[in-house]
Amino acid sequence: MCAKAAGKRGGKVAILDHAAKPCGKIIISGGGRCNFTNREVTAENFVSANAHFAKSALSRFKPQDFIEMVEAHGIAYHERKHGQLFCDASAQQIIDMLLKSAREAGAELFLKNKIVKVEKAAEGYLVATDQDAFTAKKLVVATGGLSFPKFGATNIGYTIAESFKLRIIARAPALDGFVFSDEDRVRLEGFSGIALDAVMTTNGVVFRENLLFTHAGFSGPVALQASLHWNPGDEVRINFIPALTREELMEWFASRKGNKLEIKNQMAALVPKRLAERFCDLYLPETLDMGNYPKKEIAAFCEKLQDWRFLPAGTVGYGKAEVTRGGVDTDELSSKTMEAKKAPGLYFIGEVVDVTGWLGGFNYQWAWASGKAAGDAL
Ligand SMILES: Cc1cc2nc3c(=O)[nH]c(=O)nc-3n(C[C@H](O)[C@H](O)[C@H](O)COP(=O)(O)OP(=O)(O)OC[C@H]3O[C@@H](n4cnc5c(N)ncnc54)[C@H](O)[C@@H]3O)c2cc1C
Repeated sequence: MCAKAAGKRGGKVAILDHAAKPCGKIIISGGGRCNFTNREVTAENFVSANAHFAKSALSRFKPQDFIEMVEAHGIAYHERKHGQLFCDASAQQIIDMLLKSAREAGAELFLKNKIVKVEKAAEGYLVATDQDAFTAKKLVVATGGLSFPKFGATNIGYTIAESFKLRIIARAPALDGFVFSDEDRVRLEGFSGIALDAVMTTNGVVFRENLLFTHAGFSGPVALQASLHWNPGDEVRINFIPALTREELMEWFASRKGNKLEIKNQMAALVPKRLAERFCDLYLPETLDMGNYPKKEIAAFCEKLQDWRFLPAGTVGYGKAEVTRGGVDTDELSSKTMEAKKAPGLYFIGEVVDVTGWLGGFNYQWAWASGKAAGDAL
């Protein structure tokens, strides 16, 4: 996106990448169909130390602008829930579109060039790769985050920023889900594979989506979203039965009769059976007689089901994280052009910057919008 914009303005553009094929993450994104944007994108869909920074670029390149590109290239797409847009056929179409657009604008692609160092040159910047050396008056760092090292992620972008004395906001893997503590791994053993609609709350941020138990923790869209907002030591709360209010759930139990086994079976109407059984085993007495179970005890059980709290041991990690939270401090950059204030001619765009989107096409929209903002300024 950046190369296209810069090339259109008449610049001579070189794109350097150490990968053998460009856009490695796009091809695996969205299950191979690339969730390339979201119908509704606002700065509230991003986590950043400066909540306002992304507004400028996002307002100048909107989802509709990218959709128009997609349509102009004849790429069929569809909308899934929460405004998420995906290709009908393949993520490769987005890659082809981007490459074609960049090439048509005159940009040249240099693959298998691992950037090892960037230095200030007499006029602009010198980029040393393991193959060659390039000099340019202006340099855009679009090297992404640390996530998915097997698809070529390196820390070079942060190293370049630090070498020009730019601050980095602490980084962490995000959109990766949670790992259980040892205690929860025992409590929740045997749940792997269970999926259900749930609400997760982290740091006051609430998401309702699908939740998946893995052998090691929580995954699924709701856990991925929640992991973006989580910091070590934070408690995570889960509502396993969001379809009912607390009063409705209380009434549901109050109108039941039966012993523990019977209640376990009836509860399968509310949550997956294995979960119902374990919750009953963990939190209901062996000699349960639901018809005579005190209201206070029912309330306590409902609370476990609708406000279950746990302390994750951590998030899953960079190997599976869709993004890296944190990055180049936005205070160091112009929100209009993405240029570093301390290093004129040096720009940072995309995921290397401390702007991290929710799950749902937001990270690509940020990549497109920040790329366009820089490209227009080169
Ligand atoms: C599995 C997965 C699925 C995802 N799905 C979605 C999705 O559906 N929708 C969405 O919005 N976001 C998704 N994301 C997030 C999205 O892919 C990223 O936020 C986005 O790609 C960031 O773009 P970028 O250009 O900043 O960095 P990247 O796309 O990561 O590109 C960085 C480039 O820099 C190159 N590079 C790195 N180090 C060096 C070096 N030393 N020398 C030379 N080149 C180097 C890499 O090879 C790479 O090509 C997904 C991420 C993953 C991992």
